[in-house]
Amino acid sequence: MPQGHAPHPIGPFPSAPSPTCVHRTKVFERDDFTCVYCGRSPLIDSEVELSVDHVQPRMRGGDHSPGNLVTACTRCNTAKGGRPAWAYLASREDERIRFLARATYVWPRLRAAIEEAAGSRREQNESPPPPGIEGDDG
Ligand SMILES: [Zn+2]
Repeated sequence: MPQGHAPHPIGPFPSAPSPTCVHRTKVFERDDFTCVYCGRSPLIDSEVELSVDHVQPRMRGGDHSPGNLVTACTRCNTAKGGRPAWAYLASREDERIRFLARATYVWPRLRAAIEEAAGSRREQNESPPPPGIEGDDG
């Protein structure tokens, strides 16, 4: 018997599932192994690598609950960086629409933050288009 390895005490609770700790595979399965931002999947494109992304970053109070974790490819995850999803999606309409359509399990307050960030950005967007753009109305 190895020394210094006390038997782990088994509590009275038989391995209850912890809602704050979701295995990444569970997240991937829930999202059909598809990035919620760009819609790419390693099942279709072998170059795609999946990762688990925090909608609300941990440093901003986000947790490991299922409503805060989404499947993101490494490319989107890198582009998003440490920002919350709503900051990343505010200027990316395609990704935002895809996210809101796919990630229906995300906490309502986080989804609201995404829609709000996109809306407030649109209101603030009052500056004229940059000069030097030719008329391209076709
Ligand atoms: Zn992606």
